This record gives sequence, C-alpha cells and structure tokens, in this order.
Amino acid sequence: MSTNLAGPRIDAGRIQAALADHADATPAAVRDILAKARELKGLDDLDVAVLLANTDRGIDEEIFETARTVKETIYGNRLVLFAPMYITNKCQNECRYCAFRASNTDIRRRNLSQEEIAEEVRIIIDEGHKRILLVAGESYPAGEGLDYVYKTIETIYSVKSGNGEIRRLNVNIAGLDVEHYRRLKACNIGTYQLFQETYHRPTYEKMHLAGPKADYDWHIGSIDRAMEAGIDDAGIGVLFGLHDYRFEVLAMMQHAAHLENRFGVGPHTISVPRIEPAAGSSVALNPPAPVRDHDFLRLIAILRLAVPYTGIILSTRENATIRRQCYALGISQISASSRTNPGGYTERQHDPHSGEQFSLGDHRSLDEVIADCLELGFLPSFCTACYRRGRTGADFMDLAKPGLIKEFCQPNAVLTVKEYLEDYASAETRAIGERVIEQSVEAITTDGLKCDVCDRLVKIEDGDRDLHY
Ligand code: SAM
Ligand code: SF4
Repeated sequence: MSTNLAGPRIDAGRIQAALADHADATPAAVRDILAKARELKGLDDLDVAVLLANTDRGIDEEIFETARTVKETIYGNRLVLFAPMYITNKCQNECRYCAFRASNTDIRRRNLSQEEIAEEVRIIIDEGHKRILLVAGESYPAGEGLDYVYKTIETIYSVKSGNGEIRRLNVNIAGLDVEHYRRLKACNIGTYQLFQETYHRPTYEKMHLAGPKADYDWHIGSIDRAMEAGIDDAGIGVLFGLHDYRFEVLAMMQHAAHLENRFGVGPHTISVPRIEPAAGSSVALNPPAPVRDHDFLRLIAILRLAVPYTGIILSTRENATIRRQCYALGISQISASSRTNPGGYTERQHDPHSGEQFSLGDHRSLDEVIADCLELGFLPSFCTACYRRGRTGADFMDLAKPGLIKEFCQPNAVLTVKEYLEDYASAETRAIGERVIEQSVEAITTDGLKCDVCDRLVKIEDGDRDLHY
C-alpha cells in the first residue's frame, strides 16, 4: 500500500463550475437523474450538482419521493440507535463555532476519571443502549496522552449492568498519526469518525484559528491515515452552516471518491450536523451560511441518492419535528437521549455552563424516541453484528450492494428491539413494539429464516441475549 499520506485534493473550481453550469437544468434532465438513482448504483458529481442546483419545489418533491424509495429498498424501515458519550471538554484547538475551544472561559472544564466513565456507561446501558459514540476534545490528561482514550475504550467494553453491555463503540476524536490509529484499531473500535467541518479552504482557515486542527491538510488527511492503519469503517461529515451546503455536498462526494479509489472502499457513514448555539460562540449563534430546514431535507435526500450504501447519521442537534421528516429520506442511524458534556448522563441537568459542546434540539428519553419511531412505522435497531462478525469495509459493501443488508439487518433489528422491550421499555412502548415485531416477522419472505427468528424471539423471552446473524 502507498505510503503517501496526502488526503484528497478538493477541486473547488470543478465544484463551482458544476453548480454554475447546471443552474438551469430542465425538469426532464432532473428526472433522468432520478431514474438513474432508482437503479441504486449511486450518482456522479455532475448528476449531484444538477439536483443541488434545482430550485423548483415541485421537483424537490420528486427528489424526496425517490430518496424515500431508495432508502426503503436498501435499508427497509430500520433505524439504528446510539448514544454519544463525551469524556473530556478540554481542547487545545480554536474552532470558533465550538464551546470547547481553548480560549472559551464560559464553560467548566473536566475530563472524566475511569470510574466516572464507568458510571456514565452504566447509565447509558440501563437506558437500553448497545452502541456508544465516544467523543472528546483534543487534550488528553498530562502523563497519559492517548493512553487515556485506549484505557477508556477498555473501560467502556468492560461495564456490565443487568442484561446489558456496550457491544459496539464508535469513536469521534481528533486526527492521529498512522501509528496511533493502529493502536486505536487494536482497541476493537467500530467506526472511526471525523468531520471535515468545511471543505472550503478559505472558510476552514477563518474558522480554525489555532491548534493541530487549524492545519487543513493534516485534518483532511486524517481519514486516509486511519484507513492506512487498517480502520476500514470510517465516517466523514460536514458541519453545515459554515459554507454553502451545495459546495460541501459536492466536496464530500470528492472525498468519498478519493477513498474509494485509494482504499477500495468509501466512507462507511456520513454525518450531517448543523451548527447549534454554543456557549461563548458568536459564530455558532450567527452561522455564516445557515442551512434552512428545507435545504437540510434536500441535502439528506440527495446524499441518499448519491451514495445509497453509505449510512447517514442524524444527531439530537435536530429537534423531534425535523428528525421525523429526515428518517424516511435516508437516515440510517440516530442518536437518542444524548448529553454533550462530560458527566452529562450522571448529572442529568441542563445548565448552560455545565460544559456542553452545543445546545440540543431533541431532549426526549430513549424510550420516547423508540415509541415515536415505532408509531411512525420505523423499526428501531440496536444491532451491532456486522463488525463483530467481520462484515466491515469492502466486505460490508460487497454484502450491502446486492441487497443482502436487508437479510441480515432486518432480523437483527427485530431481535435487538425485542431485547429492548424485554429489558427496558415502558408498558406503552412494549405494546407498540410487540405489534411492530409481529408485522416485521410476517414480512420476512424466506421461510427458514422466519422460523429461526421466531425461535430466537422465544429464546429472548426465556432470557437469552445477543442472538445475531
Ligand atoms: N474534537 C474532535 C473534532 O473536532 O474533530 C472530535 C469531536 S468534536 C467534539 C465533534 C463535532 O462536534 C465536531 O466535529 C463538530 O462538527 C461538532 N460541533 C462543534 N461545535 C458545534 C456546534 N456549535 N453545533 C453543532 N455541532 C458542533
Ligand atoms: Fe476542540 Fe473539536 Fe471543539 Fe474544535 S470542534 S474546539 S477540536 S472539541
């Protein structure tokens, strides 16, 4: 494998030209692209530029409808759930939109001890979660450095409470060198995520004033270094609100294509955070390029068509109303009952100075989110099977592409939501959940599989756990 560690070269000229050239695409041209998207092979950047340049609301409805069809065909009605967990809000960087930036004196700083981390994990497990996204500012305790993160991962996987444990740990921490990524991979992580924030270099430089992250080239090369180190499930993302969202979507396409060309696999997930107010940040209060709700829905739908097999992650930055609209357009993973300050699950309070990274839009409990998803016809999933069975990177994509994802993922969703209903759900959620499980089992078309799922459901009622395909 190549040792050249440069990241993707974003061709800003190509993006600007593509958007300008396609500003007056005809409805017929858009419909041709939607027909291509329905073949589930993804779209190239010029196709995506046409969809992004559209300003006709009627055509947008057709884009939404196509995105719903693609999402349903590939992912069914599943929504995978996770909880973010912040272990430190200390940071050496100066990202102007973030409450954790080094010079902000408006928040209390702390990094959690391993005992405090274990307590947070217990609370998250006792709510019913099986996946955690570990999040940190870029400043690790003196004398420990990155060992703090490696030790934290060991702690998280070691906690057991009731019938529960964390079965997949994804990580969102600052860019590392290849050697440290190798150690991170050896800790048995699921996905490594890092958001570019903005791919537009001048905006990036304006927004990141100091610290290692201020180096655009270092930051954008991080996913390459992670993949070079063998982490084959990597997540990318943009902080929407810093620069024109249409530019960012096209740049993400270039990033994805670069990874695919170089490593044979594109990003495992794309995250779509929008800027939220953050303590002490005027940029977060007045973002330079705010994305309206309608455009937010558009960008999710267009990403779903462009990269149909890449997961799209939606966080609790968004409120319940907009989250409900996003699910069917292409979201495959959501967070629920989140806290964005270290120790937030233990403290359970909303104090603006408590050290939160940004304000949240959805404060509902996991049980409320699950009940809501079930009522809307979605099947919540706590599945963690793929990476534990070695279905990662290109292997995952090979399975996903012929549509087999539904054969594994749908039964695993049924089994994990059954565990949730048995161990954690309120009586109301359990009642709706049992109905949805029944319908989901009915919808399994392979007879052998249907019988096997029914057997396993009985085993779960009898106390068995973690039965997955
Ligand atoms: N410190 C690492 C980094 O910056 O890459 C890792 C995690 S950082 C705590 C997580 C993400 O939060 C950032 O990548 C950024 O996109 C997002 N974020 C920061 N400030 C935000 C804000 N005001 N509103 C919404 N998201 C924000
Ligand atoms: Fe630190 Fe990340 Fe916040 Fe930047 S976005 S200040 S790197 S925590």
